[in-house]
Amino acid sequence: MQLHPDISHVILTEDEVRNRVAELGAAISRDYGDEPVLLIAVLRGAAIFVADLSRTISSPVELDFMAVSSYGSSTKSSGVVRILKDLDETIEGRNVLVCEDILDTGLTLKYLLKNLASRKPRSLEVVALLSKEGKQRVPISCKYVGFDVPDEFVVGYGLDYAERYRNLPYVGVLKPEIYTD
Ligand code: IMP
Repeated sequence: MQLHPDISHVILTEDEVRNRVAELGAAISRDYGDEPVLLIAVLRGAAIFVADLSRTISSPVELDFMAVSSYGSSTKSSGVVRILKDLDETIEGRNVLVCEDILDTGLTLKYLLKNLASRKPRSLEVVALLSKEGKQRVPISCKYVGFDVPDEFVVGYGLDYAERYRNLPYVGVLKPEIYTD
């Protein structure tokens, strides 16, 4: 596949992402065994990740979705978190695994985990495909991390800039002239 003209360079190739997602799925399957696990994907960025990850897990998997506001079209974390779409089902007594696309400042996840913990799940863990090195402003215990990435704004594999580029099969950095803010 040709490199998208707006991308300056690729950080993680399609193969690298696929292999690592399979490794995460294997680790999750080992840890949960035959116990059911409810994957909660944080929309919209984690949609593609959870679709692929769920298919590499051998434990019984259920899926639910939440949407929170974080970025808009800006590339800076606002720290303001609003639930735009809540879960469809109760999580009380269930093994919950929150699936995030990228852990940046950790502000979004901190809020989300506090909110979910108050609903009394049996267990509550996090899997993040990407984690930005040295950027976390609040401590987050993230049991499974796909890749540590440099502190650059990245797109692809679910991650967007102004709602674009989510469908790129790799993770890359945009050319500087593409950013408008
Ligand atoms: P945090 O609250 O700063 O950890 O931000 C978390 C959310 O911001 C992620 O789930 C993404 O939706 C978005 N985000 C953070 N960094 C990036 C990036 O490099 N590219 C695209 N979205 C990002």
